[in-house]
Amino acid sequence: MSSRLTRMVQTSLTIKVFAICFVSVHVPLLVFIVYLAGGNGAEPEPVLLLLLAATVAGTTICLLSLWWMIRPLSQLAQAIKIYRANGTPVRMQIDRKDEIGLLASTVTAMVAETETLMNKLRHQAMTDLQTGLGNRRWLNERAAEELARAERQGEPLSIIVLDLDRFKGINDGHGHETGDRVLVATGEIVRTCLRPYDLAARIGGEEFCILLPRTSLDDAEAIGERLRTALAATTVPPLRQGRMTASFGICAAGPGDRLPDMLLRADFALYEAKRDGRNCIRRAHDTNTEEAIASAKLAPAKAASPVNGKHIL
Ligand code: GH3
Ligand code: MG
Ligand code: MG
Repeated sequence: MSSRLTRMVQTSLTIKVFAICFVSVHVPLLVFIVYLAGGNGAEPEPVLLLLLAATVAGTTICLLSLWWMIRPLSQLAQAIKIYRANGTPVRMQIDRKDEIGLLASTVTAMVAETETLMNKLRHQAMTDLQTGLGNRRWLNERAAEELARAERQGEPLSIIVLDLDRFKGINDGHGHETGDRVLVATGEIVRTCLRPYDLAARIGGEEFCILLPRTSLDDAEAIGERLRTALAATTVPPLRQGRMTASFGICAAGPGDRLPDMLLRADFALYEAKRDGRNCIRRAHDTNTEEAIASAKLAPAKAASPVNGKHIL
């Protein structure tokens, strides 16, 4: 019975508040009874002083107890405010079994769940779900950081753009599902061929871009060659080996370059690789995007694809 009562008091805020108010209100009466039981007379002056002191004591006990009781609510409100302002979940140590404890643990759990969901959504917003590589938005954001760092530290940076050869033919001849498996296999090959600090993304249907920090154009070509050979050596049934190939365009960062400039130049090179029979790598000749566009205008057939703005982010 007593343990049930203890549990009720521990778990119910209403009972706690009621008990505190009841005890505090009765402090003057209790003190007066004890005073009389001690054989003291009922002269008005000392009794009045005693009741006044007891009332102040009762009120103080009541206020302090209520303050202690609702203090976690302000901690909770503060934690929610901080989380909403800067997204930092605040750990709260509220070890209570009543409604406030329940509220605190529920809010903590909800914030943790929201955090997990937000991380998942952030990840999905930046990932190509088919291949598991980054997507165009992710590459654009990361490229800005990497280009700024490369420029600051005077380091080379290159990109590789690759486009699967006659991919439409794979879809048309063997079905969309086979095409999808080719894309997944390409994603895996790209991932395994890269160094930990390289950034790979699927930037279009069957187009991929790899950003290579601290990498000269020569080194980028070597990495591209590794990828090209690996792709050509891969078999995705029912395709015969050698059917899954890609054409590559590579380009090095020039001063003040942004990713769209580099993509445009790499695209010109890629288009050259397509024209030269596919399954090969071509370098961007120009280090300046305006020069690249100007030379593309002199050779309109060559520039048809990239100049359509396919790769402008
Ligand atoms: P090229 O060698 O000149 O690049 O020829 P291509 O056939 O690879 O190029 P094209 O641009 O004509 O065709 C690309 C095809 O990629 C068309 C589109 O239906 C297909 N595609 C785009 N996204 C996906 C996808 O997610 N899955 C599959 N299976 N196909 C896709
Ligand atoms: Mg394409
Ligand atoms: Mg293609």
